[in-house]
Amino acid sequence: ESDLPQPVQVPKDKLLGDLLPTGFDEKSCLSRYQSLLYRHGIPRKASPYLISKLRRYEALHKKCGPHTDLYNKTVKGLKSGRYSTTPDCKYIVWISFSGLGNRILTLASAFLYALLTDRVLLVDRGIDIPDLFCEPFPEVSWLLPLDFPLLNKFNGYNQKSDESYGNVLKRNSFGNLTGPALQPYVYLHLVHDYDDQDKLFFCDQDQTYLQKIPWLVMKTDNYFIPSLFLIPSFEQELHSLFPDKETVFHFLGRYLFHPTNSVWGLISRYYEAYLSKADVKVGIQIRVFDRENGPFKHVLDQILSCTMKEDILPKLNPHERIISPAGKQKTVAVLITSLSSGYFEELRNLYWEYPTATGEIIAVYQPSHEGYQQTEKQNHNRKAWAEMYLLSLTDKLVTSSWSTFGYVAQGLGGLKPWILYKPENRTAPDPPCRRAVSMEPCFHAPPFYDCKMRRGVDTGDLVPHVKHCEDMSWGLKLV
Ligand code: GDP
Repeated sequence: ESDLPQPVQVPKDKLLGDLLPTGFDEKSCLSRYQSLLYRHGIPRKASPYLISKLRRYEALHKKCGPHTDLYNKTVKGLKSGRYSTTPDCKYIVWISFSGLGNRILTLASAFLYALLTDRVLLVDRGIDIPDLFCEPFPEVSWLLPLDFPLLNKFNGYNQKSDESYGNVLKRNSFGNLTGPALQPYVYLHLVHDYDDQDKLFFCDQDQTYLQKIPWLVMKTDNYFIPSLFLIPSFEQELHSLFPDKETVFHFLGRYLFHPTNSVWGLISRYYEAYLSKADVKVGIQIRVFDRENGPFKHVLDQILSCTMKEDILPKLNPHERIISPAGKQKTVAVLITSLSSGYFEELRNLYWEYPTATGEIIAVYQPSHEGYQQTEKQNHNRKAWAEMYLLSLTDKLVTSSWSTFGYVAQGLGGLKPWILYKPENRTAPDPPCRRAVSMEPCFHAPPFYDCKMRRGVDTGDLVPHVKHCEDMSWGLKLV
């Protein structure tokens, strides 16, 4: 698409400190090297070890990726239905499942798992993955070929599937002490409804078994990386890759997720039109988990009380109708994302009807109001992706509890957001929000099991860098 705005200046560090590989055709994915234009650069540097690991992964992907000889050979083994030996190339297949924010988090999780276990990541297209994301690895695609033998089973996979690791274990429970018989593939059910056996995925002994399986097919709606940090055999490697624990999703996300040109058009046109000239950019992500659509007064009250208490937005001056401007006034652009337009209208009207106490000029914008979640629609998901990305470009970010949409924005942006507490009984919580301890997403359904002692344990209390989340007391996040 040639009608996209062209960069005014070439970004100095377009490879983000060598996080990104060279050798891509720039025009086919403008966001890859232009993203820096709208960002304040990268807050921290990726470790040299992560960078070298990514280059080694890219080489592995080129050797084993779709339609290579080794891929064809390993698929043949899968079709035969018999386990022979551990092949040259092993794979983790990610199934496209759940809302877009969830999918972005699970894809990053599957990729880190691939890095840790020397597997090649292959991506199920779902309805629109190639429409949303550029290819992240040079030369060989990450997309699962459409003739992949198990593809037509993906939709049907669930907690009860015979092929799931949990069910394989159950069938074996009185049998072989060294673990179940080896098979050509295992389905990993890591969806929030997974059971105790499925959760043994997070134990070292089980990883030793899974290590021998050529094909792992994974369905999940959770950012499970925090629990990978609790697996002893991964510990050292993870520490070397991420000396700074709270940057895991930040770096994986900036490495993997480059909006396609159609989405980049949505992002760059919006940014240039509404955000670029403001002195301060504030993002407010509003996600209301309620049976009804709203807008709700208690949510608006909560947003106002949070943003004013925390000095994110200036207070209003209800007594004056005009504040005489002295020189150029500071402008604040507020980017709201929400399925409903109600909160946006109220906030915009407030700052129109009253001046701010400090004289700043507040402009309020909202790109879309889609009404309800429509994950099966292409244009809907393009907008959702564009909005997560736009939020990540703000200076200060307010997010909603429990929402992966907000996690993606904060992680990509390297931002510690203010999280709006989840309202109970339709009343604004007090305090309305708190600052996040880290920019990392929360793992909503972690296991609470001590694999060695074979008993329950508080997994948020084992190491200093894995803690419970601000917005979900039983969740786990890296800090
Ligand atoms: P989560 O449910 O908040 O964790 O986030 P997900 O992204 O996984 O699923 C919610 C889906 O609802 C999104 O992917 C969008 O399809 C839609 N959605 C929710 N909030 C917004 C919003 O503010 N803007 C847009 N465009 N879509 C939204």
